[in-house]
Amino acid sequence: MIRLDLRFKTRRVAVFLFVVLCLAPFCPGQAPLAEVYNLRYYTHPNFTRIVVDVGTLREYFSAELRDPQRIYIDIYQAKLNPILREEAIPVRCDYISLVRISQKNPSTVRVVAEVDLAKVVRYQVFHVLDPFRVVIDIYPRPGTPTAAAGKPPQPAQPAKSGYSMARQLGLGIKTIVIDPGHGGSDPGCLDSFGQQEKDTALDISLRLKELLKASSELAVILIRETDIHVPLENRTVIANQNKADIFISVHVNAFRKKDRRGVETFYLNFSPDPGVNELAARENATTTKTIGEMDKIIKKIVQNSKIIESKELAQKIQENLVKCLSRNYTEIKDLGTKGGPFWVLIGSEMPSVLVEVSHLSNAQEAQRLKSGAYRQQIAQGIHEGIMAYIQSLGKG
Ligand SMILES: [Zn+2]
Repeated sequence: MIRLDLRFKTRRVAVFLFVVLCLAPFCPGQAPLAEVYNLRYYTHPNFTRIVVDVGTLREYFSAELRDPQRIYIDIYQAKLNPILREEAIPVRCDYISLVRISQKNPSTVRVVAEVDLAKVVRYQVFHVLDPFRVVIDIYPRPGTPTAAAGKPPQPAQPAKSGYSMARQLGLGIKTIVIDPGHGGSDPGCLDSFGQQEKDTALDISLRLKELLKASSELAVILIRETDIHVPLENRTVIANQNKADIFISVHVNAFRKKDRRGVETFYLNFSPDPGVNELAARENATTTKTIGEMDKIIKKIVQNSKIIESKELAQKIQENLVKCLSRNYTEIKDLGTKGGPFWVLIGSEMPSVLVEVSHLSNAQEAQRLKSGAYRQQIAQGIHEGIMAYIQSLGKG
């Protein structure tokens, strides 16, 4: 517990300082009250995620209290939307009894999670932008039941402690979740002719789904099959709920340097590369300043992530995508596989990658992306990469 305390103190200062620094240039006077409009949670085998939807960037402060034991977040310059009354929501897991939200004073909303800290190994508080929401992830000690008997909000399953032998042998890969990047009000990147990343990513993902269904018995789930907005943090939640074995997020790249071209595949990690962080900031709909703060969170998360498996999956997809495109097209540049701080990969319980299939900012690649044949070849390459990964598990 001493270690826990130290970490909590560090985080408390870090979160507070970051948010103050971040807001300082924008809030010379007092900001109007933001309306907190939703409180939700998801219980997974390995952790519980509580999300507070605020909508507008606001300063917040988090800490824990010991008597009684709880973790709280105060969100400043905020009020409860009338649709969200002060309420306490029971959480059906063994280490959190309930989450409640209230108007602590006229300009502060407080969210409290009543937690049995003895059963918790760590927790992390962070925020995601566009729209702004504050997230608490709470991780129980191994062996602590996630869902209490009765009516769990999600199906209960034993805590995983790595891959089963069947899965190590590639026999357990049953479900693949494909995440077409962006959607709805978030178009992703654009080319100068109005081609939008969200449409291209969806088209490639639909093609990939067809290829997988035609060639295997795998269950394939798309995070979205139409032009709708799905919050980043919900995407891995959907994958976890469906007990997916592989998660692939499909994106199209864009850079200020118009001559930059090629294919690259990412797995979740912190990165010292400013170029990777610039890309991640765009994909996360955040600023590069926020990425600096994310690094600290990610350094903790990767210790518990399937980073080796994700890296192997990334390598197989990258290798096969480049090989497949090079069969029919010239100048396919292999930009390699890299770690990067991508929100959409946080919280997944399976090998997870984000593929940047080409650049809309490069004239030739944007032109190629307009063609169904090129998008089909991209889907084919990712498909071959997935199959190569599954086969490699069988050889393991
Ligand atoms: Zn994207």
